[in-house]
Amino acid sequence: MSHPQSGNINEKTLGNTVNYVSTRGSDQKIGFQDTLLTGLAPDGGLYVPTDWPQIGQQSHTLAGPYEKDAAALMSPFVDGDIDISTLTAITRAAYAKFGHEDVAPLVEIGDGHWLLELFHGPTLSFKDFALQVLGGLFEHVLKQKGEHVTIVGATSGDTGSAAIAACRGRPNIDIFILHPLGRVSDVQRRQMTSVMAENIHNVAIEGTFDDCQKLVKAMFSDEIFRNELALAAVNSINWARVVAQTVYYHVAASRLANGPLSFAVPTGNFGDVYAGYVAHRTGLPLNRLIVATNQNDILAQVLTTGRYWSGRVTSTITPSMDIQVASNFERLLFDLYDRNGIQISRRMEALRVKGGFTVEPERVEAAQRLFTGVAIDEALTLSEMERVHAETGLLIDPHTAVGVAAARMSHSHDDGPVISLATAHPAKFPDSVERATGRRPKSPDHLAEALICDERYDVLGRDLNALQAYIRARTRIGGKEP
Ligand SMILES: *Cc1c(COP(=O)(O)O)cnc(C)c1O
Repeated sequence: MSHPQSGNINEKTLGNTVNYVSTRGSDQKIGFQDTLLTGLAPDGGLYVPTDWPQIGQQSHTLAGPYEKDAAALMSPFVDGDIDISTLTAITRAAYAKFGHEDVAPLVEIGDGHWLLELFHGPTLSFKDFALQVLGGLFEHVLKQKGEHVTIVGATSGDTGSAAIAACRGRPNIDIFILHPLGRVSDVQRRQMTSVMAENIHNVAIEGTFDDCQKLVKAMFSDEIFRNELALAAVNSINWARVVAQTVYYHVAASRLANGPLSFAVPTGNFGDVYAGYVAHRTGLPLNRLIVATNQNDILAQVLTTGRYWSGRVTSTITPSMDIQVASNFERLLFDLYDRNGIQISRRMEALRVKGGFTVEPERVEAAQRLFTGVAIDEALTLSEMERVHAETGLLIDPHTAVGVAAARMSHSHDDGPVISLATAHPAKFPDSVERATGRRPKSPDHLAEALICDERYDVLGRDLNALQAYIRARTRIGGKEP
């Protein structure tokens, strides 16, 4: 899909202000700062830019360092009110915490097949790329407004630790992360609970991840509580996260610089691969975006058959992709339906009421001009980890293996180079890596430390009132500085 709807979209040039609208048809327009703090639009939709700024040509002049390229590539999205020097300071602080000088190094694993290592951040998953920037943006905007927010979120794994690492010690933010007691891995729990900053609060809920999510939703729906505590969210529908993730697509392409490439992206909530789409719409030439899922294959289904029906979530060895409703897919649908928000509202209502909807064949075909959906089962994931290890000596994590396997299945050498996104460090999922390869990955030093540190978290039941009382008593909002 090279620009199927460009007739409806005024393409702007660098330096102009971009505004944002909801995917559900409300005609209210807001600026970048408000999308940052709001998250979800009032009509239940997601924010998207009214215009696609054209920044692709810039990839030829991306010369590094990563933090500078990131500020240049993000600036067209970031309104007139965050200037480039502030933005550069934010990206510099964000990427200084990464453990590799290239930030996102490329490694060749086969003829024309590359891995983009996105796991050198503080919590070893690609989520650090966006959340580290998000933390800096929140702090900047809140300081300017003299405001304070209380971030609440639920995590089944990587998001919680990345959000905590991004917010620790920030004076205008208190953050409460809920995880299901006994249901996240040891590594994932310790990455959250070993952080001893006073604005960080971990709560283990006696229940499942769904219970945690329901509690978070209930807190956001309680308008009095929401306003009183200035609740904010950092989940993957936050537009600023998408923008931060577009950067590594441009940077990786500029480093290889030989014709249009393809990317294979292990996918759950469609945030990461949607960022690739945004990079393309803003000018980056791409051959294909391979949407790689595990057995929870609703996205592979919709991209092959048009059917988007959510079933039960199956637990897999790639927990960060165990998702049946991919929130960010709504943003792609908005473009596939010629930016007609009424059409999107209708389909989202059908999803809620009936459990799904079907996309018409001509719109599926439009999507297929750019996207290939591929589902990879657990046996294939394990054998791909083993194969990559045997052929290159590299250990890859199971999420990464899903993308690599999908690239090998759907892409041939004649299709040009392909970059598979390595979304987590193998040491985050040591048991699966060992099961596949017989080798246990070595933990980077800071992870090894977290694995022996003291932990701090509280255990609460599935009780909304008790949780709200807990948060009220601990947030520093309203001048209650401790
Ligand atoms: C979150 C996550 C994914 C999925 O990313 P989405 O943006 O939700 O599609 C894949 N791999 C890892 C390791 C993750 O943490």
